[in-house]
Amino acid sequence: MTDRVYQAGETVGVLTTEPLGRSGLGVLDYRAPEGGCGDGDFVEVPLGPRRVLGVVWGKGEGRFDPAKLRSVARVLDAPPMRAELRAFLTRAADYTLTPLPAMLRLATRAPGLADGVATRRVVRLTGQVPNQLTDARFRVVEALRDYGGAAVTAVELAEAAGCGPSVIKGLVKIGVLSEEDAPKDTPYPPLDPSGKVRLVGDQVAAGDALAAAVAQGGYGCTLLKGVTGSGKTEVYLEAVAECLKAGRQALVLLPEIALTADFLARVEARFGARPAEWHSGVTMTERRRLWRMVAIGGASMVVGARSALFLPFQDLGLIVVDEEHDSSYKQEEGVLYNARDMAVLRAAIAGCAVVLASATPSLESWANADAGKYLRLDLGARFGAAEMPKMQAIDMRADPLPGNQWISAKLVAEVNARIPRGEQSLLFLNRRGYAPVTLCRACGQQVGCDDCDARMVEHRFLKRLVCHQCGATKPVPVACPACGVEGRMSAVGPGVERLAEEVALRFPDARVAVLSSDLFGSARALKDQIVAIAQGQADIIIGTQIVAKGHNFPLLTLVGVIDADLGLQGSDLRAAERTFQLMRQVAGRAGRAEIKGVAFLQTHQPEHPVIRAILGGEEEAFWAAEAAERRAAGVPPYGRMAGIILSGPDVAQVFDFAGEMARRDGPLRAIGAQVFGPAPAPVARVRGRHRVRLLIKAEKSAPLQAALSAWVAQFKLPTNLRLAIDIDPQSFM
Ligand code: ADP
Ligand code: ZN
Repeated sequence: MTDRVYQAGETVGVLTTEPLGRSGLGVLDYRAPEGGCGDGDFVEVPLGPRRVLGVVWGKGEGRFDPAKLRSVARVLDAPPMRAELRAFLTRAADYTLTPLPAMLRLATRAPGLADGVATRRVVRLTGQVPNQLTDARFRVVEALRDYGGAAVTAVELAEAAGCGPSVIKGLVKIGVLSEEDAPKDTPYPPLDPSGKVRLVGDQVAAGDALAAAVAQGGYGCTLLKGVTGSGKTEVYLEAVAECLKAGRQALVLLPEIALTADFLARVEARFGARPAEWHSGVTMTERRRLWRMVAIGGASMVVGARSALFLPFQDLGLIVVDEEHDSSYKQEEGVLYNARDMAVLRAAIAGCAVVLASATPSLESWANADAGKYLRLDLGARFGAAEMPKMQAIDMRADPLPGNQWISAKLVAEVNARIPRGEQSLLFLNRRGYAPVTLCRACGQQVGCDDCDARMVEHRFLKRLVCHQCGATKPVPVACPACGVEGRMSAVGPGVERLAEEVALRFPDARVAVLSSDLFGSARALKDQIVAIAQGQADIIIGTQIVAKGHNFPLLTLVGVIDADLGLQGSDLRAAERTFQLMRQVAGRAGRAEIKGVAFLQTHQPEHPVIRAILGGEEEAFWAAEAAERRAAGVPPYGRMAGIILSGPDVAQVFDFAGEMARRDGPLRAIGAQVFGPAPAPVARVRGRHRVRLLIKAEKSAPLQAALSAWVAQFKLPTNLRLAIDIDPQSFM
């Protein structure tokens, strides 16, 4: 795409963020305004009685009489969207079969695009902090420190600290905070890439290779594989340094907000300043600043969640996807996309290097490296004295436990041995809440959600039952909703909260910390807890899968997996892969510092091939076996799949429509694709809507998207039905 300029009155196409037109393309014709406009300009255009945001998108269809077209209302004072980003949005829309307006919305998630540059009042720390502060005032000071110098208004600060505006006013009055006018958007402090870290062993060659890839310019994808603690972060920061030296911008994607505190500190230590941050926890003011600065080169490094991929970089030189296997890179609502795949796409379009880093790569990336499409770099050993933990199974069939206990005698003994030594133990259970099932002992009825086909999970912390599908809650019933018998409702199976109860009983003197995403009001509280644990303020950590994600706990030497079989149930294509990754990630938490770690897997099936592969640590053998199975079945990454979910209030209607779609499969058959279903989706009802699924399977080289579009276009969807297309589905919900 080359940028064109249009004279006043010429016809231009404008892509708006409104879902318009039969094709849903959303590009409408307008007349260029007084003074003209150019491709990529952000504009405001009249649409019915409203004015909406849009981007100039080529010269328009020109099918209408220009005299009858409405004129672009005004060109906004925002940096135009580059051809590179426009091409990326177009290709990403084509790939995910998403209407372009929805793609554009992802790329315009910054407030105040329509406002010019101005000033606003921000609050800052003066440096005077009295020893005595009320709780609320203390929280404000802490919250402001958290922003690390980023601009914050009083309103945003009050919200972040969870207090009223009067607390901020009070702090200004006593001189702890000052208020000042600041230009709305200032550049981020420059990073200094000259500092050197001395890489060692395998790190040297890997660092050199990555730096060379960046220096060379142009697209290239590298899979950087290394066990947790092997120094992947240090190595890819070499690539970032090279990118900064070349004067280009670097983007590092991380899967979890909770991870960034540690990461930001490391970047600051190495490059002398913090990078720009982009995720849901960032204030609107800061988002606006970042969005503008990235566009004009005032931010050289961005650390962000998956949506950072849609930022208007001026000159992208490198994208790093850390923990590339992480399933949270797949956006499962709204626009269904996988940020890892989209990162590779954007890098290809921008002509820049992309690095996928992981201790346990996805099979997709493993296969791409295997096929020679990606360069693969391996870091073999852990940095310094740290070694990968020894892994061992505890056969739960040998010593069955009483019905309300889940920690084996062996594990209890191991934990007890560590407490007096000041070493930490992690008990891992990937299940939030207290108990997954609430059952009536009189009639056997299980309490389910009224709107979903899901059992409700007891959360004692909230004192309620919660549906993990839709979030609905209700009190734990005293009488059975089915048979009416009172006092026989009981909790079955463990969640982390119940495990915490057992821990309190078995280890009465231990200090216990529970890490579960739902137990923390804010990302900040979770970060605080993680820091406290790292400093040794807990003997036993009980955690769900958030603990698997890269946190560094130097005193942790024991990992006990309460139920290693949990992920192996279910028919998910990726069950084995996920379990393998999760167990290895969790085990990788142990023994990161000087002391050697050990991991125990409680299992009822120690002979299961996946459990054996985990224990044996024969990674390549595991991947090769898994790859062979998928190749034989013709499923991803050796074949292509798409999930179609139809949902609606009336189950028969949804099934009928899905059946009709399955029968009229001509466009799919034309490319050799097969349709499976309709079948009830694994979660067959959510928020009162019945969900039916079709699964499409095609060969790897088949033009799946085009065929899907042609197929879907044959049908007129009744207004009460919804259809979602998920290309490369990750979860099969
Ligand atoms: P990974 O990203 O593979 O989990 P990290 O890069 O976080 O590994 O490294 C683990 C720890 O070892 C970190 O504390 C890191 O600072 C340290 N480390 C790794 N390599 C080096 C090195 N070459 N020099 C100094 N410290 C290092
Ligand atoms: Zn529900």
